[in-house]
Amino acid sequence: PVVARFCPSPTGNPHVGMARTALFSWAFARHHGGRFVFRIEDTDASRDSQESYDLLVDVMRWLGLDWDEGVEVGGPNGPYRQSERMDIYADVAQRLLDAGFAYKAYDTAEELEERRNAARAAGRPSGYDGLHRDLTPEQQAAYEAEGREPVIRFKMPAKDWTFTDLVRGDITFGAENVQDFVIVRANGQPLYTLTNPTDDALMGITHVLRGEDLLSSTPRQIALYEAFAEIGVGDGSTPEFGHFPYVMGAGNRKLSKRDPESNLLGYRDQGFLPEGLLNYLALLGWSIAEDRDVFTLAEMVEAFEIGRVNPNPARFDLKKCEAINGDHVRMLCAEDLQGRLVPYFQAAGLVDAEPTAEQTDLLAAAVPLVHERMGLLTEAVDMLRFLFVTDDELTIDEADREKQLDEAGLGVVRAAHDALADVGEWTTPAIEEALRLALVEGLGLKPRLAFGPVRVAVTGSRISPPLFESLELLGRPSTLARLAAVLA
Ligand code: GLU
Repeated sequence: PVVARFCPSPTGNPHVGMARTALFSWAFARHHGGRFVFRIEDTDASRDSQESYDLLVDVMRWLGLDWDEGVEVGGPNGPYRQSERMDIYADVAQRLLDAGFAYKAYDTAEELEERRNAARAAGRPSGYDGLHRDLTPEQQAAYEAEGREPVIRFKMPAKDWTFTDLVRGDITFGAENVQDFVIVRANGQPLYTLTNPTDDALMGITHVLRGEDLLSSTPRQIALYEAFAEIGVGDGSTPEFGHFPYVMGAGNRKLSKRDPESNLLGYRDQGFLPEGLLNYLALLGWSIAEDRDVFTLAEMVEAFEIGRVNPNPARFDLKKCEAINGDHVRMLCAEDLQGRLVPYFQAAGLVDAEPTAEQTDLLAAAVPLVHERMGLLTEAVDMLRFLFVTDDELTIDEADREKQLDEAGLGVVRAAHDALADVGEWTTPAIEEALRLALVEGLGLKPRLAFGPVRVAVTGSRISPPLFESLELLGRPSTLARLAAVLA
């Protein structure tokens, strides 16, 4: 059975590359009917934060990438926060020492630096030279007497490392490029190099899927698994590995955590649907079919073959992301869309925390007017704001006022006001008929010129839902009041 995992470190804001990794690992697990583990790698107290942890959990829930085991939900191999597993790492490190797979190294930073420089100057590999690999107990005691505190290094077997990456195919790291590495700092803090494979082994992870930046740590991890098999950490097997391509931002640079467009929760605030964002993230390295960009998460799970992930860097394109989101907005039924809009209307102060029946009805009536015309949920707020504010609160876009409400425009508004005051029943067809009669036929204006001033006076902007329906929803008293207000 497949067991995949997502194991971010809680530093800063969750970012786009991270979510893409989570999505691919999750889709892989679900495609194979396997389990998905969500672990938090918070062993570095100086960089990790509770706030960042909360955001990660929040983002996974918002995206709907559910996990079978992990933080918040528990499971048979917990705890799932590495900060709560320190005794486990201390124990594994000790067993590696005892079995001779690791050793204490007493080099000072200056000594290491000096030897590294000398190696570089001589054209030799500049990783650790293994000087403290075979210290005698007497030499160790002498260093300790000097007050030196050792790190623990893992003893890399001297061989080439070849594995088949599920995304990239066969990969080899030459022995000369992978030296003995630190697994526990002098202050006792275990490092990623130890904690990550320890947990993957103890949690029964069968597939380690992650970003390309971790490719070079793979030979070290494989070496650890071989040692784990000897000392009985985990079931003795080595997982398979797959590394997803980098995500590139503007200017063909790697999208970094610090780029504003990489902040994942920013997308929620801007009004992306999780479905739309996930669909777009899936396209960063994968595609469901040659000529198809839009699909559901269920379709992705069904079709997700990891061998079809493209190892080449993927480019993040915000415009395309928005367009795909718009497609997903159109795929929602009106009722679903309405429910998703409520928080955005609340955030904008247009709907109460506990929406009134009137607000709910108005939103239900207004949603069909904008359903087909938005890429982001926040656009609905902008387009429908005029319905939720009082006549006094309506603000008119200054540029639109200048263009549309000049002398000629005000003439149009006056004619519209008089015609609408006389409309019998306040319905879309009656409103349309009255305005066409008064403005297109009466004033001889082209429709585009005729309705612009009315639109700006009533909705505050030239960009708004269809006009006649909008006026019907707004009601006669407000419509007339707003037309009169720009004439005053
Ligand atoms: N905590 C590591 C990171 O966030 C996880 C890497 C891995 O998946 O092995 O980069």
